[in-house]
Amino acid sequence: MKTKIAVANGDGIGPEIMAAVLKIFEACDVQLDYEFVEMGKSYFDAGHSTGMTEKAKETIENLGILFKGPMETPKGKGVKSINVTARKVWNTYANQRDFRSLNGVNTVFSNAGMQINLTIIRENIEDTYGGIEHMLTNDVAVGRRIITRPGSAQVIRYAFEMARRKGLKKLACGHKANIMKLTDGIFLETFYQIAKDYPEIQASDIIVDDLCMKLVAHPEMFQAIVLTNLQGDIVSDLCAGLVGGLGFAPSANIGDNISIFEAVHGTAPDIAGKGIANPTALLLSGISMLRYMGLTNNAASIENALLYTLEQGVHTGDFGNRNTPSVNTEGFANAIIANLGKHPSNGGVIAHPNFECKTNFDFHPEKNKITVTNPDVNEEIQGVDVFVESALQPGEIAGLAKSKLNDKFELIMISNRGTQVWPTGSVYTELVNQFRIRFERPEGGELTQRDCFEIAAELSDVIKVCSVEMLMLFDGKIGYSLAQGQ
Ligand code: NAD
Repeated sequence: MKTKIAVANGDGIGPEIMAAVLKIFEACDVQLDYEFVEMGKSYFDAGHSTGMTEKAKETIENLGILFKGPMETPKGKGVKSINVTARKVWNTYANQRDFRSLNGVNTVFSNAGMQINLTIIRENIEDTYGGIEHMLTNDVAVGRRIITRPGSAQVIRYAFEMARRKGLKKLACGHKANIMKLTDGIFLETFYQIAKDYPEIQASDIIVDDLCMKLVAHPEMFQAIVLTNLQGDIVSDLCAGLVGGLGFAPSANIGDNISIFEAVHGTAPDIAGKGIANPTALLLSGISMLRYMGLTNNAASIENALLYTLEQGVHTGDFGNRNTPSVNTEGFANAIIANLGKHPSNGGVIAHPNFECKTNFDFHPEKNKITVTNPDVNEEIQGVDVFVESALQPGEIAGLAKSKLNDKFELIMISNRGTQVWPTGSVYTELVNQFRIRFERPEGGELTQRDCFEIAAELSDVIKVCSVEMLMLFDGKIGYSLAQGQ
């Protein structure tokens, strides 16, 4: 029996490359049925604020697999990217991108005789992609970076499982926990906690800037790397560059219920409609999808035909030997079809699964899942940060803050852009019109939430309050950052 999946053609070059890939699937007798869903720019334009029809949402939630072409997010209309929304709403928490050198695709590394084979697992839901941003003053925008223990654990466990399935010897965690001690700190701490369950895999961590340098200089040092969302986004495009560009970068967005397979590249508006786009990235994504669905024989024979075709020097206009004529999208697909059953010179791939195969399609949850890792943690309120708008000098702001102090609080410090400016600071620190005033309980004191909001309310009589943030202790551990210089 054929399994049904949802397919969205996408915008720009999307319909052209999707047609090429589905033609290859058909030639290989892939046992899939397709339900085409209405998603993309024209549905934004038609007034669907999420960029898809209700019917499309229902179909994808019913079928659990979406194979999609790239989609354009209309600019300047205040709408969010449909690609990001789809990943977040359906909790496809792990973004897996496999990068490897392909014969026929020349890069500086292949020319130097170096083969690249590495996998990036990027967290796909959290981080700055929450898109929670506010203007605190006309000059100051603030974005929230959300990193959670459950979200980190989901993607990190996925990465270790993937490494185990592929028989990898090592997994690295890329991070910036030296600067973002709490957010990246949670990610890194979770990484080493979960690593204990996989003793056969060598776990290490690396600061993301060092990682970028090492990936460019010595990509062979790494087998797989797991990262938070934004850092993973940047590092995976860097890796696409190592193996020949975005035209060769597949992407799988894996969730427990719904998974989305797509190319990394966008709609390529500059070449859309010309029939010359390179379908390889979408084809590689489709091959990952076949493996995920347990169609491993199909996956292997299409991959071998693709590798053989590339090795023969067949290429679209965006890569390959400029001295040999390029083929168009359809010509490229036809060449792969003609080569089904052939193997590249290194013997090619065998039918092994890359992903945990999805066999259970009966997954319709009735409630939202909610995870709390330690419900018994002891929480105490240590104080409150009140963010205010002012163009006064730090000493003057301290005077206003002191005028509203009560015996529940002490005035600890004032910072501007994260740098302490009161009680000590430097006159050389340049300021903007937004300060953070930190109040803490005195030794032995106790605070309630109401106390914290009340001091902020009092302060609002003499200065504009932009925002309030609790200072918490969790089992006695400080749950907030200190100011530079504090
Ligand atoms: P892009 O990836 O569409 O194009 C960048 C360059 O790469 C262009 O020169 C393009 O011609 C080339 N290119 C991309 N894919 C190619 C292919 N398969 N074959 C040959 N050449 C290819 O990036 P962009 O121009 O920044 O974005 C265009 C649109 O795509 C934007 O609306 C963006 O929001 C959207 N986008 C969507 C996704 C997605 O659906 N997942 C991802 C990225 C960008």
